[in-house]
Amino acid sequence: MLINLKDPDYFGHSSSWTNYIKGIKSTDENIGDLYDFIQGDDNYRGKTTIIITNDHGRHLPNVADGFTSHGDGCEGCRHIQFLALGPDFKEGVGFQTPYEQIDISATVAKLLNFKMESSKGKVMTELFK
Ligand SMILES: [Zn+2]
Ligand SMILES: [Zn+2]
Repeated sequence: MLINLKDPDYFGHSSSWTNYIKGIKSTDENIGDLYDFIQGDDNYRGKTTIIITNDHGRHLPNVADGFTSHGDGCEGCRHIQFLALGPDFKEGVGFQTPYEQIDISATVAKLLNFKMESSKGKVMTELFK
């Protein structure tokens, strides 16, 4: 299942720092609710992987209109957050390898035990126990 939580991007484009922060907080709360639901459900607890990431970064403060936009090759736009939680993953892994978004699908394919024949993504092997 893919869930798109749009508040940070939507409110970032509003040019309001206050609303942008509210969007980040509401997304954090939504993810917390989802996590709590999974932990409280016998069918999902201990069997569910959650991967949280961005679909893109945002400009650094000194680039174009700053946090309001994104889409060029600046450092802010090229870097995103990534958090992976689940029974197959180690705790506290930091990456030495720079990964890209296409590597997430390769990693999910590994979790679900199938190969993505045409994908150029790399499995994020450091994550796994
Ligand atoms: Zn956007
Ligand atoms: Zn940028």
